[in-house]
This record gives sequence, C-alpha cells and structure tokens, in this order.
Amino acid sequence: MALITCEGIVLKTHALGDTSRIVTVYTRDHGLRKFVAKGARKLPSRFGYALEPLSRSRFVFYLKPDRDLHLLSKAEVLDAMGSRLSDLSRLAHAQASLEIVDRLVWGEEPHPKLFALLVQALEGCTRAPVATLPAVTLAFQLQLAAELGYRPRLDQCAIDGRAVSQRRAFSPSRGGLLCDSCAAREGGVVFLSAEALASLALLLSRPVLEAGDYIELPRAGELMRVIEDFFRTHFQRFVGLRALDVLRGLDGPGAIPRASEPRVALPAYVVPPEALVPGVADAPRVPTEADAADAAARALAALSVQRAAAAEAAAAAPAPPAAEHEPPATGRT
Ligand SMILES: [Zn+2]
Repeated sequence: MALITCEGIVLKTHALGDTSRIVTVYTRDHGLRKFVAKGARKLPSRFGYALEPLSRSRFVFYLKPDRDLHLLSKAEVLDAMGSRLSDLSRLAHAQASLEIVDRLVWGEEPHPKLFALLVQALEGCTRAPVATLPAVTLAFQLQLAAELGYRPRLDQCAIDGRAVSQRRAFSPSRGGLLCDSCAAREGGVVFLSAEALASLALLLSRPVLEAGDYIELPRAGELMRVIEDFFRTHFQRFVGLRALDVLRGLDGPGAIPRASEPRVALPAYVVPPEALVPGVADAPRVPTEADAADAAARALAALSVQRAAAAEAAAAAPAPPAAEHEPPATGRT
C-alpha cells in the first residue's frame, strides 16, 4: 500500500457515516479518484477547505490497487476556488464544469491536458465578464469533447467528407457539419447562423481561459442547445448541465435560455463579416497556431455570408421587363 501525493480538484463530496466523507477528486496524475476522509465532518475539520467542491488541493492518500476507495491521509488547499466565485452565475458555470468532468471522465488514467482544461475553465469562471461565461463553459465542453476523441467536424461533411453545405447544417448526432445532400436526408439537423459557426470554430481553437475575453455570444442559447444535443448523443452519461438550471429564465447578463424553449432550427441570416465576431479584431493578441484556425473560421463564415447574400439577391432579382408592372405572383401553386 503506497502513500501517494497528488494535486486535484474536488468534484463532489458525500457524507459517510456520522463523521466521515467520501470525496470525488479529479487529479492531475491519477485520474478520477474517490477518497475516504475520516473525521472530515467533525468541526473544526482538520482538512479545512481542502475537501470543498471547486477547491484545488494537494492530497496524500494510501493507494490500494484494485479498490474504488482510498484512504485520505492529508489534504491541503492550494486554491479555494469556490471562495473566489462571488456571483451566482460564476458559481453555476464553475459547477457545470465539475459536472461535465464527473459525468464524462472516469477511470484512473491520468489525462494532464484535461486537468489543465478544467483548471482553465474554473479560472475563466472567476475572471470572465459575466455575460461571456457561457463562452467559457462552451469552450470547455468543446475542447473536452475534442480531447476525448469527439471533436466536432467543421471542415467537411461529417458523413461523407464532401464540401459542407452553405446553409451551415450541423448534425449533433453526426458530430459536425453536413453537405447539402446529407443535410436533406438526415434528421435533427440544425442550421447555424454564420455567427454561431464562427464562434464554434473559435471556441474549439482558442484557450478556454480566454474564451470570455475575445468573444461574446449574443446568441449563446443557440450554441448551448446544439452542443447539449451533441453531448447527449455522444456521451450516454451526460444529462444536461443541471448546474445551470438556476440561471435559466433569469433576467440580466448571466441569464441563459430556459431549457424548455422550443428547439427550432434558426434561419440563416446575413451579417457583415466584420460583425461576425465582435471584439476579435481589436483584441490584443500574440499570433499563435490557433490564429490559422481563426482565419479559417472567419473565412468560412464570410464565404457563407457572401453566398447567402448572392442567393438572396438572385431570388429577389426583378422579373423580366415585360412583367415589370405586374404584381408578383404569390400564393399560387
Ligand atoms: Zn455529406
């Protein structure tokens, strides 16, 4: 029985007996672990804030191979993240990140990149402007999905690899954009706005910690619903982000759409390319590899807008001169 020291983030705790707790922790080097913390419910607790959900702490535990529960020897808090989340919206989004990890990640396999993503998401929840918190949560969801092998496909049809539809047809169940012919056959396709698609590409490629800095999601609800459907299809244990329920239907900057709102396919709409991603152009930045992905996303969105505008112009073109003074034929079949 080895004594192990590791760093981790507390996802949740349960009472055990009269005085103890079971603590579920996502650790950097030992994956998801459950610890028995004896005497943790006695006051004052010898563990302090180290076992509170959201805390990043250092744990010393007795590793028993092939056991689900390990006895915790010591825990000291490194960052009591929960105490820095003063606002209901921040707390809800931070808890949503814990919920995602608790639902989607299991096993003791270490995944340091996932751990780093979680740290970034929680840090983002303390720093990002409240109105952009959904961007932080979405970026975390998307990048975590990518790490787990479910990166949404945006460069070609997710079914047959053909060129994607200019209608920006996204299939949550197929995990990406579709071509026109697949979009016509496939059920449950959502037609994204140009802005939502550009946001999706940025959220996948830019650091989670900065998601709230460079992008606002005036239509966050549109993407949140699509990504929720995407998660429900690909991750059986995902049941929606319960932590965000407290924010549904609220007024104010932290409000997010009600879960019960009808899931309608939104029509494509035309916006000037420079208005697609507010704030991106003026945000100070050091060029990174992700810039190439950004440029591609913006080019894709701009192309969609141009083609949509051209199609609209063609549809609205005046009738031939002979018919110029006739009223347009409407409603006749
Ligand atoms: Zn296709």
